[in-house]
Amino acid sequence: MNSPQRHRVTEKGNSGNLKGAVGNNIIETRFSLCLGVSVVNGFWMLKIKRKEYDALRRHGEETYPHECCGVLLGHMEGDVRTVTSVARAGNTRTDSAHNRYNIDPRDLIRIQREGRERGEDIVGFYHSHPDHPARWSPTDFAEAHWYGCSYVITSVEKGKAALTNSFALTGMDENDKKFIDEAISVESLS
Ligand SMILES: [Zn+2]
Repeated sequence: MNSPQRHRVTEKGNSGNLKGAVGNNIIETRFSLCLGVSVVNGFWMLKIKRKEYDALRRHGEETYPHECCGVLLGHMEGDVRTVTSVARAGNTRTDSAHNRYNIDPRDLIRIQREGRERGEDIVGFYHSHPDHPARWSPTDFAEAHWYGCSYVITSVEKGKAALTNSFALTGMDENDKKFIDEAISVESLS
């Protein structure tokens, strides 16, 4: 089990949680990125609204004991990715769907096209870990190729969504890519 400190979700408006996770100063500094203010490097964040956050977690409960997977759409500004919608995708890994996921390429093309029509880009992906921690696996890492995107993992314990973590894939190519823990800011307003 992960310790409480591993729970990186922060609720906007609840500064107690923000402080516990990463410190108010950093959060405030990074939010200023959207205003064009220059900021320190190295703090990655995923911003997502409550509705989309709940939807991706619920997806993991519905496909339990198999993994779910889907795409996060929105826009990027610096190290901050803002999710404006989530799209479910089919898991093509029917051989080992409890610990593998692979988004159907036809789904991905369709989701990307539909997103562009709404002015959204792909900013990340999500999947679930049935009865496993919300940490990336060596397979998750090997199969991650969208640099600059977020990879969100929800552990689903006995059919119930538990911890949700996000990891930013940094680097320019396969040789120097890295998963970095990033904060998730769940915004209550829809
Ligand atoms: Zn995984």
